[in-house]
Amino acid sequence: MSHQKKEFLKDSDQIAFDKRHRATINFNIAKYDAAVERGRNRYSDLALARERASYIKSKAINGLHDYLIEFEQKITANGAEVIWAEDSGMAIDAVQKILYENQSRTLVKSKSMTTEEIDLNEHVEKIGVECLETDLGEYIVQIAGEKPYHIVTPAMHKSKEDIAALFHEKFDTPENSTPEFLTDYVRELLRNKFVNSDVGVTGANFLVADVGGIGLTENEGNGMMTFSFPKVHLVIAGIEKMVPSFKDLGLMWPLLAAHGTGQQITVYNSVVTGPKNEKEKDGPGKMYVILLDNKRSELYQSDDHYEVLKCIRCGACLNACPIYKNVGGYTYDSTYGGPIGSVITPFYKGLGKYNHLSSACSVCGACTEVCPVKIPLHNMLLYNRRDAVEQGHSTFAWNAGMKAFKYAFSKRKRLDMLSGKTKNKLAVFGKDGLGKKKEIPRFADKSFSQQWKNKS
Ligand code: SF4
Repeated sequence: MSHQKKEFLKDSDQIAFDKRHRATINFNIAKYDAAVERGRNRYSDLALARERASYIKSKAINGLHDYLIEFEQKITANGAEVIWAEDSGMAIDAVQKILYENQSRTLVKSKSMTTEEIDLNEHVEKIGVECLETDLGEYIVQIAGEKPYHIVTPAMHKSKEDIAALFHEKFDTPENSTPEFLTDYVRELLRNKFVNSDVGVTGANFLVADVGGIGLTENEGNGMMTFSFPKVHLVIAGIEKMVPSFKDLGLMWPLLAAHGTGQQITVYNSVVTGPKNEKEKDGPGKMYVILLDNKRSELYQSDDHYEVLKCIRCGACLNACPIYKNVGGYTYDSTYGGPIGSVITPFYKGLGKYNHLSSACSVCGACTEVCPVKIPLHNMLLYNRRDAVEQGHSTFAWNAGMKAFKYAFSKRKRLDMLSGKTKNKLAVFGKDGLGKKKEIPRFADKSFSQQWKNKS
């Protein structure tokens, strides 16, 4: 059993029974569910909108090679520099080079899971550059010394009381401060940082091929300040974020908002096509775009998984997942948690170490049902399980158990050969898999079919 799997079992066993954690998550996800329900109901034909969004992203992924080249040509013509990074090491090297060449000491960042994927903050801080998150949720987890808990709502695991206590401890703000007070406090603090930072780092919600643009969507205005105040704008984006055309945003932006937060459309939506030109007074003088592969090409080559590259990181599958709601975001030990994380993490971090994430799934299909771009996530989780066995990552006991299971369950007669008493004795061997706090269900003395026969 991999070390990562042992940790996953240990952590999930603990967090699933943490009543405080459960209450916070249930409260926050219930608020999300209500908002998203309203957001989705605004569509007169949501099924059609999802169908079209799925088509747009399929088109982008199927033609990814050409769209990436088109994007590069367009944005380069507008003065940006594009850097291709095969893995996170190359991306970090490029970032450090940019910071060095521009003599940067301070960096502000708007929310970006791709930068989390490459551990950007840790790497730039190592070379003495101050790195500050400017999205409120990200800022909260940063000062708490934590990683984002959720891909859309990074501080979802914290109640307003937890956050007030954290700010009191770090900044001596009044105890039990209200969210409004703390938001004002952070706003004031960050203004100064925006004005004085050398580099602004953003991700990209979308790479727009036909205009060579970075599509950014956010609610706090911090993203706009990140890419407009500092003299250098650095974008780090996964290559899969592509949409073919500017007009695709007319569907993708509202659909992302509806599934991410339940909004009709997110408050601030920007398309950045390059650094400031000679006619513009404001804006960054330099713009760099790092296009990150980091195993996405491997996903692309898998016939069973490539569709996962359509993901627009709305977070809906996490909120719908009964496993995520029980084990929480940190148990996955990955930048990406929930169903989407369980599909892609084995590609990013190794199937041998992380195939257990795909097994921690009840295959209820709730993720697939909510996904706005119609990714068949639960099927992909099954493919991961298959691949883990085929590539020799399952234990001898597991393989033998599965063979026995298949043999017994393929014929009713074989199942009925054993009495209820014997089945109950054998079932004890499965207790470890259920965890200490769960009772093994009892088998009846006679099976359903035997009882049925006796009745008729
Ligand atoms: S897989 Fe679908 S539901 Fe999950 S984050 Fe991506 S787009 Fe959203």
